[in-house]
Amino acid sequence: MSTELLQAAREVVANGRRVVVLTGAGISTDSGIPDFRGPNGLWTKNPAAEKASDISHYLGDPEVRAAAWQNRLTTPAWTAEPNRGHVAIVEIERRGQLHGVITQNIDGLHQKAGTDPAKVIEVHGTVWFTRCWDCEDRRPMDQALARVRAGDGDPACLECGGILKSDTISFGQSLVPEVIDRAMQVSDQCDVMLAVGSTLSVFPAANCVPRAKAAGAQVIIVNGDETAMDRYADWLLVGQIGEILPALIG
Ligand SMILES: [Zn+2]
Repeated sequence: MSTELLQAAREVVANGRRVVVLTGAGISTDSGIPDFRGPNGLWTKNPAAEKASDISHYLGDPEVRAAAWQNRLTTPAWTAEPNRGHVAIVEIERRGQLHGVITQNIDGLHQKAGTDPAKVIEVHGTVWFTRCWDCEDRRPMDQALARVRAGDGDPACLECGGILKSDTISFGQSLVPEVIDRAMQVSDQCDVMLAVGSTLSVFPAANCVPRAKAAGAQVIIVNGDETAMDRYADWLLVGQIGEILPALIG
């Protein structure tokens, strides 16, 4: 990537009035959060974890749930720290330019870095909360984990006795329409769409890029590899996210 290209894209970000950032797994790998399907991915190395992520298995099999709770005790997100990429996005907000962060990640690292939680749109949910499958009661995850540590292998909802899971979107589970609507809305309203660390191949989140482009936004894609939406990019920055983002924003 040339210095000129980076400088030109930097100008675009600097002049943005409503910047929307869309992030995927690639921004969190520097924080030690593994992706799912890569060579070192969570599911590549542990197929049982993929089975637990299918909602019908989870709901139908207490053993799958017990294994899932044991995995949750050691989820990397509990100890992971935000990296330079997350911090650079906080800088956009500090400058008063941030219209929203749409993230496919469930690790909560944008909020941990200091991004206003009200601006983070988590299209695949978050591991930091539990939700009851029956009554939708939502609570901080640490309450359920404390019960698991105390010996309850499959803690039930304290309100209704229903099945608890992390407040994430499992395979076979519907996305939350209000969350997706909000992601599309901020994409329609932005003047700069900065997509970072996503292959942009998972829908509907990937649609945010053509939506923003159609609404007249400048599209900047930062990733370690090609993406499914490269044809929409005005600025394509390929390389180390942790190096490019601070240079693009700082
Ligand atoms: Zn409940």
